[in-house]
Amino acid sequence: MSEQKSIRGAFGFLYILIAIVAVGGLFSLDQEASSRPTPGPKKRPARLNPALAPITILHGAVLVDSIRGRLPQTALAISKGRIIALLRDSELETWRVAGNRFVDLGGATVVPGLVDAHAHIAGLGAQSELLQLGDAEDIFDLCARVESHLVTFKGAWLLGRGWDQSKWTGPRRTLPSSPRMLDQVTRELPSFLVRVDGHAAWANSAALARAGIVASTPDPKGGKILRDSQGQATGVLLDTAMSLVSRHIPTKDAAAAKRHMLQGLNAAAKAGLTTVHDAGMGRGELAALLQLAAEAPLPIRVYVMLGTGDAAFLDQQLALGPRVGLHGDRVTIRAVKLFQDGAMGSRGAALLQPYSDAKDSRGLLVTAPAELEARAKKAAAAGFQLCTHAIGDRANRLVIDLYQRLLSAGIRAARPRLEHAQVLSPEDLPRLAKLGIIASMQPTHATSDMRWAEARLGSARLFGAYAWQRLRQSGAVLAFGSDAPVEPIDPLQGLYAAVTRQSKAGEPTGGWLPEQRLSGLQALAAFTRGAAVASFEEQERGRIAPGQLADLTVLSGDPVALAARQPQGILGLRVAATYIRGELVKPLAE
Ligand SMILES: [Zn+2]
Repeated sequence: MSEQKSIRGAFGFLYILIAIVAVGGLFSLDQEASSRPTPGPKKRPARLNPALAPITILHGAVLVDSIRGRLPQTALAISKGRIIALLRDSELETWRVAGNRFVDLGGATVVPGLVDAHAHIAGLGAQSELLQLGDAEDIFDLCARVESHLVTFKGAWLLGRGWDQSKWTGPRRTLPSSPRMLDQVTRELPSFLVRVDGHAAWANSAALARAGIVASTPDPKGGKILRDSQGQATGVLLDTAMSLVSRHIPTKDAAAAKRHMLQGLNAAAKAGLTTVHDAGMGRGELAALLQLAAEAPLPIRVYVMLGTGDAAFLDQQLALGPRVGLHGDRVTIRAVKLFQDGAMGSRGAALLQPYSDAKDSRGLLVTAPAELEARAKKAAAAGFQLCTHAIGDRANRLVIDLYQRLLSAGIRAARPRLEHAQVLSPEDLPRLAKLGIIASMQPTHATSDMRWAEARLGSARLFGAYAWQRLRQSGAVLAFGSDAPVEPIDPLQGLYAAVTRQSKAGEPTGGWLPEQRLSGLQALAAFTRGAAVASFEEQERGRIAPGQLADLTVLSGDPVALAARQPQGILGLRVAATYIRGELVKPLAE
């Protein structure tokens, strides 16, 4: 319903615009035609048409479209939130009429508003209040950081985030093998330290005791309690096993939920994003978001995927049906986030064949296929888009099979998404394009995982791993994001990773699996137009073109040009401003 509604809405607007054009007679909605110099004098040009006033003209800019690349024009005219014309320098003077507003961008680059197609806004906003362990050099350093944090800590539970054993230096790059080291510094304080990917956590003995986890506790469905050779829990919990402990952590109060949401929204806007697809909102998060949106215009648009953890909440949201363009067109709720497997770093990703570095393991399915199918059918029947986390080649195949079954049964499941689509078997690669499945991928995952991906997968399976270029060439739509807070929210780091497949330091030379790199324009398209397709909004957003909404990101330089010449320059770009519907974005008051 909402898809039709939004498309009809777009067409409705077009009719009005066409009517105005018929009267004004200056510009055409045909993008090619409008980019040509305006021929001859006209009677009622748009610049004088009172129906379009006031017009804002952003000029002195380098304009980079997601399809056509750098445009010959240097200015764009905006009326009622939409781009109505692209202008050359020589045309500007005629637009200087009473009421029109000129903004000189001083040579900055304007790209379509950057979108993060997969991030966790509240998780991002909560970062500043969690003990950050991403920089820990090894397990000893991690415990030392916990110990010094505790000097001033007052809470009932110690919560940390971001550790990654694969980054640790020295010989022990393995998951913790016992809770004892953590116990020594935390003593009786229950402690829960989530791994960087959010798919594993290390709990101390006090936390395990609160959860009642003992040697005989069975693994829950879709999770694993890692154990030592004696069968004792090591404190490391994978996927659904995390909730055995986390459900004992006092839930965030409404004030904290709102604070985290607000901080996350502002962080995303500051990074130059105009839209974020939130990959799984629960009851408290959605309530916080809607409350903030009711109080003031949000600094980004949020495309909500509903979390499935709370069945009653989900049922209630599904019953409301998809809701498009709430709160000044800033919030859309029309997708559901499902999970098929875990993550590769903790070997929770479901593979068709065993891990190359753990021959006894093929990972795990977080949701049983029959259960996933039931959830997917229910969400699709309610008119919601399906966005399913799938990392390993087995998980991806199961989800593609599921989508194929739904689509061929005529179930309304338009544009289903594979969230991550990280490792695909070669046979499955072309199926995305064939079935119209969106590949929602995160370029910085590749440049973080490249350190150990080959160890986990072996060289043969890398053919379908992080295979952006193969997927693109097969005709699949790529929608890029960050998965923040797993990776930084900064889309410039994503663009850089997409065009280089290198670390920020430029390693490895030439890039990891370099044939899968994207051009600057292809990468920009995945962060703009591709993401718009993934949210049914390509009629409205994702391009610098007349007729599109003026969602814009203003950068200190041109990332597409830099990608070709000096990609590291992308990391040094600054975000000068963002615009949503032609209005300069201001952060929410903190
Ligand atoms: Zn995620």
